[in-house]
Amino acid sequence: MFSADHQRCCICGAILASHNSRVCFNAACRNSLELHYQQKLPTCRVCGRPTRGTGIQTLDLQSFCGDTGCQLKAASTLSAIRAGGKTCKSCGMLLPAIRAGFEYCDHEACLHVEARHRTQLLAQRQEELRKQREAEAEILRDRALQEQKLREKADVGQNLPLVALVPYTPQAVVENPIERRQQLLEHIRNLIQRAVVCLPSAADYLRPESDYLPEATEVESQVFAVGCRLCRGHCCVAGNTHAFLTISTIRRVFQLYPTWSPQQVFDAYRTRIPEQSVQGSCVFHGQQGCTLPRQMRADLCNRYLCRDLQEIRKAIAENSPNQVFFLASHDEQGIADYDFATAAVGETSVSE
Ligand code: SF4
Ligand code: SF4
Ligand SMILES: [Zn+2]
Ligand SMILES: [Zn+2]
Ligand SMILES: [Zn+2]
Repeated sequence: MFSADHQRCCICGAILASHNSRVCFNAACRNSLELHYQQKLPTCRVCGRPTRGTGIQTLDLQSFCGDTGCQLKAASTLSAIRAGGKTCKSCGMLLPAIRAGFEYCDHEACLHVEARHRTQLLAQRQEELRKQREAEAEILRDRALQEQKLREKADVGQNLPLVALVPYTPQAVVENPIERRQQLLEHIRNLIQRAVVCLPSAADYLRPESDYLPEATEVESQVFAVGCRLCRGHCCVAGNTHAFLTISTIRRVFQLYPTWSPQQVFDAYRTRIPEQSVQGSCVFHGQQGCTLPRQMRADLCNRYLCRDLQEIRKAIAENSPNQVFFLASHDEQGIADYDFATAAVGETSVSE
C-alpha cells in the first residue's frame, strides 16, 4: 500500500531494509528523527514520518504525508482521532490497537523520546523532593537551635548554620552472612595470589591522580565525618562482596607492610570483617561504618565524595572558616537524622 518513498529513510533517502522502519541505521539520521519528534515538528498521523510540506493539510490536525497509502487512510484516521483515538506523544501517529494503554508507539525513536522524557520527569521530581527536604531541614534546624539556646542560654552566633543534605541508608545491621564473607575472602585470596605470582602489569598501577577528587582537607573532614555518620554509608552499598578491592590495593598494602607474608595480609583483611554488617551492603560496612583502616581500603573508598559532600565542599570554600552546618540525612520516607558540624581547624563537630 505504501509508496516507494516509504521504503526510504525519511531523513537521508537511503533504501531501507524493512517497510516498518522510518529511518536508516545512520546515527545522524536517527538523531535527526528524534530531534524532530522532540521539537514536536509536524508528522504524518498515519505513518509517523516527518512531513515535508507535501501532505494534505487539515485545519486542526496537521498533517498527512504525500504517500498514497497515508492519503487513503487520512479521512478514517482523522475521524478516529476526533472520536478520541490516542496518538503517539512523540511521532503523532494514531496508536495501533496493540499500543492501546500506552502513550508512545513502539518505534525505536519514539521509545527513546519516551525514555528521555521519563528521565527528565524523574530529575524534576527529585529536585522538587530535595527542595521540600531542605525546607523541612530548615524547620528542624531552627527548632534545634532554639532548644540549644534554651539549654545553654547562649547565642549560637550570627551566621545561621547552613542546611546540607546527605543520603540515608535505612538497611538494618544484621549478622554478616557466611556466604557473603566467603565471597569476599575468595576475592581477596585471589587478589593476593595474583599480586604475589604475577609481575605488575599496566592494569595494576594506581589510577592517575587526576582520576580522583582532591583528598579531604582537615577542615572538610570534620564536616564530612558527620555527614557520613548520619548517612550510614549509602555509597558503601555498591561495595557488595568485593569492597572495590583490586590488585593495586593489595600491592599497596604489601609496600606499606613489607614484612607481612601473604597469609598475614589475608588475615589482616579476614579479621576485620565485622560480625554484623549493614544488610546487603559492603561486607566491611559495620555498625560504626567501615571496619577497614584507610590504608587497607581501595583508593576509590578513600577518595570518593558523593554529590552531596561535593556540594558541602563548595559551601565550605565559599563561606567563612567557622561556618556551622546543619546536616540532615534523608531518604524517600523523610529526614532520618541530623546534627551540626563546624568547619573549623582544631575543633570537633558540634553535637546537639
Ligand atoms: S560519601 Fe556521601 S554517600 Fe558516602 S557515606 Fe558519605 S555522605 Fe554517604
Ligand atoms: S571497604 Fe569500607 S569504605 Fe569501602 S565500600 Fe566497604 S565499607 Fe565502604
Ligand atoms: Zn538515513
Ligand atoms: Zn504518512
Ligand atoms: Zn511514535
